[in-house]
Amino acid sequence: MKDEVLAQIDRVMQKRPMYREALSVYREIVVLLEDVAPAIEYAPGDKKVRETKAKEGFPLFSREDLPVDLKATTSLFIRVLDHLSSRKREDREALKRALKRAQTDGQWIERALTAFLARDEATADAMAQEVSLDSTVLKFVTTMALKPSLNTLRGLVSGAIQRGSWEYGYCPLCGSRPDMAYFDEQGKRMLHCELCGFEWNYPRIKCPFCENSDSEELGYFSSQDEEGLRVDFCKKCNAYIKTIDLRVAEAPAPLELENLITLHLDMLAHEQGFTPLAEGHGFSRG
Ligand SMILES: [Zn+2]
Ligand SMILES: [Zn+2]
Repeated sequence: MKDEVLAQIDRVMQKRPMYREALSVYREIVVLLEDVAPAIEYAPGDKKVRETKAKEGFPLFSREDLPVDLKATTSLFIRVLDHLSSRKREDREALKRALKRAQTDGQWIERALTAFLARDEATADAMAQEVSLDSTVLKFVTTMALKPSLNTLRGLVSGAIQRGSWEYGYCPLCGSRPDMAYFDEQGKRMLHCELCGFEWNYPRIKCPFCENSDSEELGYFSSQDEEGLRVDFCKKCNAYIKTIDLRVAEAPAPLELENLITLHLDMLAHEQGFTPLAEGHGFSRG
């Protein structure tokens, strides 16, 4: 599995040299994550209850209640920070401060994880500021540290989720928003969860963020240089989502990687006044 992912990263590096630096960081972290085997406990519970909840739009878990292996996540958090701070980066000192903080204050990592999962950006930003680290870097470390747990969880629960009957724009597993979409071999639109990586079917002419299905207000623009890549936008809520058409895209990579190497499309979307994700449109109990 790891070798396959690494080979894909290498291929993508060739294809998009401008993303070489970002991809090489990503590649090193994939290697770090590989030898972690998180222990996750999940009991599916009553099928009827699960189905009723899903019909009402409740994901299997809320982000705050996701069962993750805290021990594995914490140790990875430190390893990712340690690794990043050993690279020649401008924010090396800040990363070192964060590492020291994480190693000496037992609660710090848990607070960062909790803030991230609860989408408590104020706390997450304040924590990054404490060590003068860019908050997107802290978010990246947190996401990477959680990844093996979430991958394991996804494998455990995917049988308990009925893909066909979920009709919402947020993830049936964790309630997060999609970060990318694709058209499968049949032209069906699938959304990919920004947090847990779960994929689910969603209508093509409907905004996943505000559920608007008025075709007058929905549109897309295509990438000039790459076939099968486009940005679907909604003029009602001003959100957009990048989409890869697997029927025509040349040797597509996993969506997570595609997301990373299509930042030029995000820039184009921003220039046209669209925002990446309509804040607050994921599932929340609020
Ligand atoms: Zn999810
Ligand atoms: Zn919308």
